[in-house]
Amino acid sequence: MQLFEKLIDHHEAVRLVLENTSRLPAQRTPLLEAQGLALAEDVRAKFDSPPFDNSAVDGYAVRSADAEVGRTFSVVDEAPAGRPANRAVGEGEAIKIFTGGVIPRGANAVVMVENTTGWGEEFELKKAASPGQNVRSSGEDVREGDVILRSGTEIGAPEIALAATQGYGALPVHRRPRVVVLSTGTELVEPGVRDLSPGEIYDSNSFAVIAQAREAGAEARRLYAASDDAGVLRDAVKEALESADVVVTSGGVSVGEKDLVKGTMLDLGVEQVFWGVRFKPGKPLFFGVKGGVRVFGLPGNPVSAMVCFELFVRPALMKMMGRNDSKRPLIEVYFEEDVKNQFGRMHAMRVSLESTGRGWLARSVGAQGSGLVSSLTKADALALVGPQSEGVRAGEPVEAIVLREEVILGGAAPASSTSAKS
Ligand code: AMP
Ligand code: MG
Repeated sequence: MQLFEKLIDHHEAVRLVLENTSRLPAQRTPLLEAQGLALAEDVRAKFDSPPFDNSAVDGYAVRSADAEVGRTFSVVDEAPAGRPANRAVGEGEAIKIFTGGVIPRGANAVVMVENTTGWGEEFELKKAASPGQNVRSSGEDVREGDVILRSGTEIGAPEIALAATQGYGALPVHRRPRVVVLSTGTELVEPGVRDLSPGEIYDSNSFAVIAQAREAGAEARRLYAASDDAGVLRDAVKEALESADVVVTSGGVSVGEKDLVKGTMLDLGVEQVFWGVRFKPGKPLFFGVKGGVRVFGLPGNPVSAMVCFELFVRPALMKMMGRNDSKRPLIEVYFEEDVKNQFGRMHAMRVSLESTGRGWLARSVGAQGSGLVSSLTKADALALVGPQSEGVRAGEPVEAIVLREEVILGGAAPASSTSAKS
């Protein structure tokens, strides 16, 4: 039996994961496919935008010097959006214009049709106009050469809109990591396929991990639930290593006789970065590297697998996508009662959050067993308790990783209780 050589601290483990992970190459990606990805370089304006002076309203383009109340204008042409007028505006003349229409030569103001006697070959002005009135100037939005989007920015709807105004059909973004997920365990059965026989359970980890990876913005697929047979496991891991940026296994990574994952990884040329973290739930976590592939061996207990993904795999995926900014929010929470931690390792405790006059009150979701999948559906955050064996005292501030951001966004805690530390 193999024992853990050396357990490392959870912060050290995160540091090692990030140190051994780099940004994926940039790819020019069609605008809509870039949504949710981060820019790999600054994007500049190719031209002044808007590209020409244009009207903000429907009305008449005139010379402001002529625009006195009571004056009559003759309408000499029109300038709908997309079709500039053929002639210039002279003294006492007007050109019918619509929102987005090019301001004709000679004109320097637009009077709203509401401030005239109406549409016709002639009109009388009911309200004076000043120079530039209702004119949207060329370049008032962005100037040629300006950096309009910074490297590292996550592409959302406003960024897509701005890039489109500048004619960008594609943007240079870091591609999504390809994650291959692989469960181990002879006891595992695919959900939805058949009933369980004695001793069997459904594979939940590979589904959970794929959902987590996709939520982080990665592409993820499931290889198949492998058995604990060494040959089957080896073939599956080999195939995963050939097609992924990140391989995530679950189960079989502890110190039992059937825990073959680590040995299989090493046999297949994966270099171990660490195995064993002084942290609960998820002590047996394995992390290694093979060429461009990052390999995480998550423990099999469902809560451990998901919490380890959250704490160690998610930051790696974010970094690969160039999204260093999108960490989960960290807040300070407090407990109403003393919380013990007798594990001698940091406990990422599943808690619910409540906004109170004193800040965020954390309550354990109940039993913290690492097989209790239902507990995760009740958790708003992971409170990081310990590693001191005495735990934390009632009222003492504790750092917590927020899993459900909507809870803190909708909450009414005083601003002083939430800190955007990183
Ligand atoms: P292991 O780490 O393989 O010893 O597994 C620890 C516990 O997690 C055992 O009770 C397994 O049955 C369970 N387990 C392992 N893999 C999965 C999985 N993919 N889905 C659900 N439970 C699992
Ligand atoms: Mg197992």
